[in-house]
Amino acid sequence: MLMNLAGLLGPAKEHGFAVGGFNVTESTMFKAVVEQAEADGAPLIVQVSPNEFCFAEREQYLYFTARLQRSPCPCALHYDHSKSYEGCVQAVQAGFTSVMFDGSRLPYEENVRLTRRVVEMAHAAGVSVEGEIGCIGETADFQKGIVTDMVYSTPEDAARFCRDTGVDALAVSIGTVHGLLPKGFTPTLQQDRLRDIARAVDVPLVLHGGSGTPEDQVAAACRNGISKVNISSEFKHAYYQSVQRFIARNPTAVSPTLVLREAVEEVKRVVHTKLTVFGAVGRGECCRSGAAPSVRDIGPVEVHD
Ligand SMILES: [Zn+2]
Repeated sequence: MLMNLAGLLGPAKEHGFAVGGFNVTESTMFKAVVEQAEADGAPLIVQVSPNEFCFAEREQYLYFTARLQRSPCPCALHYDHSKSYEGCVQAVQAGFTSVMFDGSRLPYEENVRLTRRVVEMAHAAGVSVEGEIGCIGETADFQKGIVTDMVYSTPEDAARFCRDTGVDALAVSIGTVHGLLPKGFTPTLQQDRLRDIARAVDVPLVLHGGSGTPEDQVAAACRNGISKVNISSEFKHAYYQSVQRFIARNPTAVSPTLVLREAVEEVKRVVHTKLTVFGAVGRGECCRSGAAPSVRDIGPVEVHD
């Protein structure tokens, strides 16, 4: 069942667990993530970043939306980290039920102006919007363990931003970093800051950069107000490591079903572990209650780049 993000995260916030947002590029990763969420009876957010969106033909999303629509699990299809209004429009046209506009590196007023514009457009189509305040860190130098650009979110800014924009979910910076973590770097999540932000805003909060963050810290964040956790690098790394190991053992293998079978199982193992940490296993039913803002039928659309 395909829903928008607001419908999925409302019950998660109410019941104190988080829904996993997994970034996929193509149909094999998609299959692994969806099948594991279904095996675990968990709600699911399938995410696509702008570069992944451009990599695929638009018809891929007709398949994604049709498959998620017939899934017994409540699901959302989410466009991650759009830096442009136009990208969000294209995602809505392609049948996504949720978009993120990331204006976190813009001056506050500009972030508000552009996020608000996306909210007005997306809400007209029944699509949810995630915004970002503060700045989630980036890995600048993997070997040297350097992290840059992290600006912690504050409860005051978070509350003001939600009021000014009308977003349905808010990504906050509390100590996580995007990508695989640099050597020797272990993030420390500021749980007190998170609790203060959760008290200050009504919308569900989102944790980005979930890959590699210690599981006990992520689980605590889910209890302290995080309703969505994004995972990308960690399961993709597991996927490609598995392919590498298989090719090393079977250098003449050419059948994709053989090469990818173990990789799919590897992804499923990571997804299952994450869903367990988020407290999302067996929670599909309770998200169905939030199905009111369900999405419209999705027909073929023409999208011009
Ligand atoms: Zn992110």
